[in-house]
Amino acid sequence: MWVLVGAVLLAAVAGAPPAEAAGAVWPIPGAVVRGYDPPEVRWAVGHRGVDLAGTADAPVVAPVGGVVSFAGVVAGKPVVVVTHGAERTTLEPMVASVAVGQPVAAGEVVGRLMPGHQPCPAEACLHWGLKRGEEYRDPLSLLGTPHRLLPDSAVAEVERRAAERERAAALTTFAGASPGPGGPGVLARPSAGRVTSVFGPRLHPIFKEWRMHQGIDLSARCGTPLHAAADGVVRHVGYDASGGWRLVIDHGSPGGTSLETVYLHAQGYRVRAGERVTRGQLVGTMGTTGWSTGCHLHFGVKANGRHVDPQRWLG
Ligand SMILES: [Zn+2]
Ligand SMILES: [Zn+2]
Repeated sequence: MWVLVGAVLLAAVAGAPPAEAAGAVWPIPGAVVRGYDPPEVRWAVGHRGVDLAGTADAPVVAPVGGVVSFAGVVAGKPVVVVTHGAERTTLEPMVASVAVGQPVAAGEVVGRLMPGHQPCPAEACLHWGLKRGEEYRDPLSLLGTPHRLLPDSAVAEVERRAAERERAAALTTFAGASPGPGGPGVLARPSAGRVTSVFGPRLHPIFKEWRMHQGIDLSARCGTPLHAAADGVVRHVGYDASGGWRLVIDHGSPGGTSLETVYLHAQGYRVRAGERVTRGQLVGTMGTTGWSTGCHLHFGVKANGRHVDPQRWLG
């Protein structure tokens, strides 16, 4: 009996590739919003796991069966660790409902998801990590991915072709989106900062897929003043998951084109819906709220209800 257990353990340790665990499941049902991106060197920045989109307080299950080896706070983050064979699965940030030493099966609830892992385009994101000794692994390998059977060069080639196809499809889809009419100088630049992303299809920084970018991004320090691009009336001030703090100003119909400007991701605004604003007036401060990976203003222009290239309207 003990000989058999010993042999099984030895086999588990000796099995070189990240054991594609039989019966492994996703710890929460949400999409992968940030992939596995281990650093070249141990001390560098990278992403040593994958992030899954979820909601606060949602149940988190053990992706593989094992024994709870840790449930507590590490560096201010509440973590649950499940040990299975020579590997350890880490799940954070989450409140544990299991105790250390407790055996858990794949799919068994081990606690609830907490918000706080950043950047996160959803209400809360689960960071799922996998370690063998001190070495990090891609946790998705537990679920079994067919491309793992190919050599690395072939994987890169497949990914390159997929990206090319996606880009071609995006360009076709967005071909109908013309830059729109323009009127240089009709709008004033809404903030200081470098243009870090232009109007048009782009590879989304968070979702890593081709999407239409409906405005321009101006990047500067958080707290940089934001100004009304022209005289108008505030139509909307509110918070939403994607845009963060959002402001919409209606500028009427200069030259016969109805014009609106949209401001996203601010720290906050100091104007209210219904309020009149004048060109250049301070309306808020730059931030990184919503689906954002750094301090910037997303500035959008709608002409006759359609998103158009803001740079055609700026002076
Ligand atoms: Zn993460
Ligand atoms: Zn943007």
